Amino acid sequence: MASLIDIFGRGNNAYFSKGPISRLSFMRLQNNLLDTASTHTSAKYLTFSELNPLRTQDGRLAFTTYEEVADAIGRPYVKDEKAQIADFDPAAHYPNLVFLGLDLQQGRVDGGPQLGDYTGVPYFALDVTSSHYDTLKTSLASAGLKHTPTRVDLTLPHSESAIYSQARSLLDWNNRNRFCSSCGGRTLSTHGGAKVVCPPADKGVPRQRACSTRIGLHNQAFPRTDPTVVIAPISADSKRVLLGRGRRWPENYFSCLSGFVEPGESLETATRREAYEEAGVNVDRVQIHSSQPWPYPSTMLIGAMAQCVEWGEEISYPESELEEAKWFELGEIQHALKHGANPMWEPPIKGYTGLRVPPSQLMAHQVLKGVLRLFHR
Ligand SMILES: [Zn+2]
Repeated sequence: MASLIDIFGRGNNAYFSKGPISRLSFMRLQNNLLDTASTHTSAKYLTFSELNPLRTQDGRLAFTTYEEVADAIGRPYVKDEKAQIADFDPAAHYPNLVFLGLDLQQGRVDGGPQLGDYTGVPYFALDVTSSHYDTLKTSLASAGLKHTPTRVDLTLPHSESAIYSQARSLLDWNNRNRFCSSCGGRTLSTHGGAKVVCPPADKGVPRQRACSTRIGLHNQAFPRTDPTVVIAPISADSKRVLLGRGRRWPENYFSCLSGFVEPGESLETATRREAYEEAGVNVDRVQIHSSQPWPYPSTMLIGAMAQCVEWGEEISYPESELEEAKWFELGEIQHALKHGANPMWEPPIKGYTGLRVPPSQLMAHQVLKGVLRLFHR
């Protein structure tokens, strides 16, 4: 009998996921452990300014120690959550700080704090955009380190891409949730940056407005992950794949169709709807290939292979979003994945003039590889 590995290949770990950090999410509730972790000499802080991470001159992530950030953040986990909420002061500086987890392997080599049953090097993400961090930023800059802006970061090593992705999405989410979505009051980030609560009082003075988030089980908000399907429609005879080209994309650059999953839709119905709305084709069976977190700002890309019905292959543009959609023979796609795959904001690979497609770090590339594995042997 064939196994899943025979059919689809070995367990894949998408770019932007599966780094060295164990999240140990239950630790986020234990501020005494986070206090030990965050103040330990081995702790690593990845700072971001305007959502750009600190980098070394050769483009790798640059980490900062607790000693370097101590003046700016103090001991953010010194109180437990109950006391944090009771003492909430909307005028105080609360760092946008996220506990990412522990590198257990590095902990075995280099040592690290003992945190319950675990020993590991603790990782944190810290937003240093505000002027509160000017002294720190000056000292980082004098060491040749910069918060360099990038569009989409595909140059980090895989392991660092995962740290970056988790950190960027969570800092961004905390920044966007500083006010309660129900009553508009200031919120407090707790659980190591993985939850926000709406405190009932400001500096001990009860808030005037009742807030529905404080009633029953709805008293909190957790980080979002927005599902998006990345679709490879396959012809009824499995010999061609449909790709689309967006408006303003470079010439010859094509990719999978894609779209957000809406409330009340399964991944399959969203895939069928998007395939029809973007390219007018009708797909029946949808098979999920794999997924990938996408930290701009917090999307979950879901690679979907979808088989067209025989009468549903004709291309049209019901929603007029694409510049062009086209059916490609599998051999042509294989050639493009091998020789013409790079980011669309870069020039074509030197000497290559054919169909251009996304590079291997992107979901679209992986789902197309999945189609070839099944139908182009
Ligand atoms: Zn509220």
